[in-house]
Amino acid sequence: MGIKPLIFIHGGAGNYRLFSEEALQRRRVLLNEIAVKSFEVLISKSALDAVEYAVKLMEDSGAFNAGLGSVLTLNKRVEMDAGIMDGKTLNVGAVACISNFGNPISIARRIMEETDHILIAGVSAERLAEFFGFKPDFSLITEEKLERFKKVYDAWIRGERKRMLKIREIVMSSPDLFNFLDTVGAVAIDSDGNVASAVSTGGYWLKLPGRIGDVPLVGCGFYADNEAGAASASGVGEAIAKVTLSKMCCDFMRNGFSAQEACEKAIAVLTRRIGDNTAGIIAVDKTGGYGFAFNTAGMCRSIFIEGMEKPAVAIFPEEPFIVD
Ligand code: ASP
Repeated sequence: MGIKPLIFIHGGAGNYRLFSEEALQRRRVLLNEIAVKSFEVLISKSALDAVEYAVKLMEDSGAFNAGLGSVLTLNKRVEMDAGIMDGKTLNVGAVACISNFGNPISIARRIMEETDHILIAGVSAERLAEFFGFKPDFSLITEEKLERFKKVYDAWIRGERKRMLKIREIVMSSPDLFNFLDTVGAVAIDSDGNVASAVSTGGYWLKLPGRIGDVPLVGCGFYADNEAGAASASGVGEAIAKVTLSKMCCDFMRNGFSAQEACEKAIAVLTRRIGDNTAGIIAVDKTGGYGFAFNTAGMCRSIFIEGMEKPAVAIFPEEPFIVD
C-alpha cells in the first residue's frame, strides 16, 4: 500500500492556559486554514515545498512568534531564526539572527539550494537575502509589540518572572518568560516517501541580542531523513539544543519506533535530563505514521492526511486529535 501524504504543522509549545478564548480561537482557525493550503502544495508539489509554504503562511499571519509576529529582544529588536531540511538529500538551509525580513524560512531554503553553506547569520544573511531578491520589511516592530514589550519587561523588572537564571544575574529574569512561545514548524511526507521539516521563530521575549536558539541548528529544532522520518520542535531553545531533540526523535524512528513512540521517548529524555515545561515536538516517520509529544501546558498543532475531510486541530493535551 502506498504512503498517504500528510502535512503536520505546529504553532509552538507553551502555556496556552494563559491565553484568552479569542486568542486560542484565532490560532485554531489559522492552523486549520494553513493545513488545508499547505496540503494542496504537498499534493501538487513535494514535502519540501509544503513545509516551506506552511511555515511561510504562519510567518505571514502575524499570529505566531515567527516572521511578522516575532517577539522582541531585550533591546527591542526582532531577530529571527529558521531552518529547513530535505529528507531525500539531507540538504539543510538555515538562517540565524536575521532582522527586517518577513520570511526567514524562504531565505533558509535559498541558502540550502544556492550556497555551499548550511547556516548564515546576521548582517551577512540580510545582505544575501537582498541579493536573492527578498525585500526588506521594516514593519516587524509594531506599536502593539512595543506595548507588549513594556508589559513583559516591567513584569520582569518587578521580579515576577523566573527563567534563564544566569542571565537574570546579569539583567534579571522572569517565571513566565516562556509562556508566550509560539514558534512555528511543519513536517510532511509526500506520496514518494520524501520527508521534510521546517521551523521558524522570533525566539523569546527579552532574549539577549545575538542569542541564537535551537531553531537554525540542524538536529535541534528540525531534522529530516527519508531513512528515518522528520521532526520539528518548539520550546526553550537552549534545552532543545542540549539534547538535540529533533535528531534524537529521528534516531528513535530510524531504530524502528513509530513517530508517536519516538516523540514520547524524545520528550521523556528531555524532561528527565533538563526538566518539565521545556518543549514539544511533532514528527512523521518513513511509513507515513505521525506523532507528537510535549511537556508544556499545550502545543498548537494541526494535521491533514490524505483521505481526511478536514484537518484535525488541537492545542491542549486533553483535546481529541488523533483521527484514524
Ligand atoms: N525554540 C525557540 C527558541 O528557543 C522558541 C520557541 O520554540 O518558541 O528560539
